Amino acid sequence: MSPSRHAQSSIAVVRLDNPPVNALSHRERVRLLAELTRAEEDAAIGAIVLIGNAEFFSAGADIREFGTPAAAATPNLHTLIRRLEQCAKPTIAAISGSCLGGGFEFALGCHYRIALADARVGLPEVKLGLIPGAGGTQRLPRAVGLATAVNMIVSGEPVQARELASTALFDRIFDGDLENGAQVFARETLAAGGRTPRLRDRAMDDPRCEPFLQFARNMVRANSGPYPAPLAAVEAIAASATAASFEEGARREREIFLGLIGAPESLALRHVFFAERAAAKIADIPPDTPTRPVRSVAVIGAGTMGGGITMNFLNAGLPVTLLEVSRDALDKGVATIRHNYDNTVRKGRLSHDDLERRMALLSTTVAYSDLANADLIVEAVFEDISVKERVFRELDRIAKKGAILATNTSTLDVNRIARSTSRPGDVLGMHFFSPANIMRLMEVVRGEATAKDALATVLQLARKIRKLAVVSGVCDGFIGNRMLHRYSAQASFLLEEGCLPEQVDRVIEKFGFAMGPFRVADLAGNDIGWAIRKRRYAEGREVACATIADRLCEMGRFGQKSSAGWYDYRPGDRTPYPNPEVTALIERTSRELGISRRKIDDQEIIDRLVYALVNEGARVLEEHIAQRASDIDLVYLNGYGFPPWRGGPMFYADTVGLDEVVHTIGRFARGRHGELWQPAALLSRLAGSGQRFSAPERA
Ligand code: NAD
Repeated sequence: MSPSRHAQSSIAVVRLDNPPVNALSHRERVRLLAELTRAEEDAAIGAIVLIGNAEFFSAGADIREFGTPAAAATPNLHTLIRRLEQCAKPTIAAISGSCLGGGFEFALGCHYRIALADARVGLPEVKLGLIPGAGGTQRLPRAVGLATAVNMIVSGEPVQARELASTALFDRIFDGDLENGAQVFARETLAAGGRTPRLRDRAMDDPRCEPFLQFARNMVRANSGPYPAPLAAVEAIAASATAASFEEGARREREIFLGLIGAPESLALRHVFFAERAAAKIADIPPDTPTRPVRSVAVIGAGTMGGGITMNFLNAGLPVTLLEVSRDALDKGVATIRHNYDNTVRKGRLSHDDLERRMALLSTTVAYSDLANADLIVEAVFEDISVKERVFRELDRIAKKGAILATNTSTLDVNRIARSTSRPGDVLGMHFFSPANIMRLMEVVRGEATAKDALATVLQLARKIRKLAVVSGVCDGFIGNRMLHRYSAQASFLLEEGCLPEQVDRVIEKFGFAMGPFRVADLAGNDIGWAIRKRRYAEGREVACATIADRLCEMGRFGQKSSAGWYDYRPGDRTPYPNPEVTALIERTSRELGISRRKIDDQEIIDRLVYALVNEGARVLEEHIAQRASDIDLVYLNGYGFPPWRGGPMFYADTVGLDEVVHTIGRFARGRHGELWQPAALLSRLAGSGQRFSAPERA
């Protein structure tokens, strides 16, 4: 075509259009390919603009297709990208909003890329345990250089277009009307001859690449823990510089991608990705359920939890009225909140103005009448049913109609608390985890009378205060602590039978838990569990099973707070040092219990601790306390330090195979305290029929 012909031809605009995020699912690929072909064959068209919407160019491949035939179905992402690249007419990706993963690889296949300055591009595949699999590791280094490509691909973090202005990635970066700008750019391109440059043709001949790649390998290996994807990404990127041709580099990328897609770490991370999206869906509460406005909040109790809970709302810009029994208690609580914010300011993560803005949203009172206008009231007073009932009776008297009344109880009966009011439909549990301003998990406890709109409101609010909400039914301990009770009991029995705390902690931390049970107990304070146990013994609700833990407390070894617990601690040092007196106590207790101590191997420790969670988790599921196995996984991943690359206890059991789990549990059932190892009916049934708790890759 001559330049003058070019100037007269029209510009085709092909829209990526697959709400909500323009994922490149098979259907969308078929449609895009058809439009591309039509534009290419239309003699009146000179250039083709590919454009998304303001929020998304495209969030990438449709990850529900991973590992399914749909991912490979023609046209796959590779075919589509190759067609863009081979198109005889210039293809121009016009990018606004997010352009991620396969969507970014699609844009990298175009001859030109133009973007709004605040558009965000990135290859987040490592976050799902993968690497970009459609040429991203080969084309991106050719556009931005090796170092930036390693940074972007290994971190998985998106980067604003304006920050990449000095690279060859974009042909134009601007503010304003993207589609208009794309038309102008396309015309200019045609006027200049309508060239079709391809990233694949750019040479990678930086002589310093080898030392850089070696440095990158070392850094990434040292920082990626149990995850194989980051280092694999460096290898794929290295191929862009060292392979004999683009094709050979792309082949290497493909091999590495296929090696990761079935790896347990990637399967687990993808399970978690879907689990988080599923958790907000409640079977009998459709997404269009009306919600109640929450514009102001009250918190009762300014102790450890009340203070942290308050901060969540202040951080989200919601005014909070904090109520306590005395001015002194209020002053102390407010001082702690300010102190926490001061620390964040000191670390440079919050500006002083923001601190003051947040504190200005906080008011305090000792009078219930000041809570009359609150849309949501969260109670965080002492864990004592009569105190809580008194508080809720008071709330019933003063709260406005429609206010949601939430309790942060860890163990008490939410139905009973609800019944102490005349409006049980407005009552539910918001079980935050400590420290409440930091921990992402919140169990939302649905009482037998909780109204659907109250629950829907709190689930929506959870997103606003950046919590991951998991719905739990009412039972002792809800999902997380109920299961933890079984885990802790096994940890105690292991000590009685032959282990020492340092062995149990070492093994389970090597398995991947953030902290072993005895280090956790020392951190939280052994006296807290002791007080609960003593109450339960007195009520006849529990037989004494934590004999050693009780004796430890009788010795005043409460944990880090007394510099002595399961371990010794030195001032200013949180390192746990084993203590010979504790060892002697453990050995003496075994003798008194008539147990001849034996050497317990690491695998038994893992199996007993983790399968105790799994078996109780199965009961939690069969009793419909949790809606789905993946909800249980989220609780353990976000509240209890379960290793993310294992996908949570229920997913881990699926990975091991439920028949294997049942077989091992059967072995434990023949041992000491075997009565605690009766397999849950659901677990036996699923194992017997070769099923899993979660469908693979779905929740
Ligand atoms: P805390 O002792 O630190 O704080 C309780 C506060 O409530 C105290 O400041 C007290 O003065 C105040 N209070 C007591 N009675 C009151 C009343 N009638 N009116 C107003 N204020 C009153 O206790 P905490 O650790 O913050 O626990 C509070 C609740 O949160 C409990 O139900 C607990 O089970 C639950 N919880 C605690 C944790 C945790 O790790 N600490 C985790 C999850 C849930």
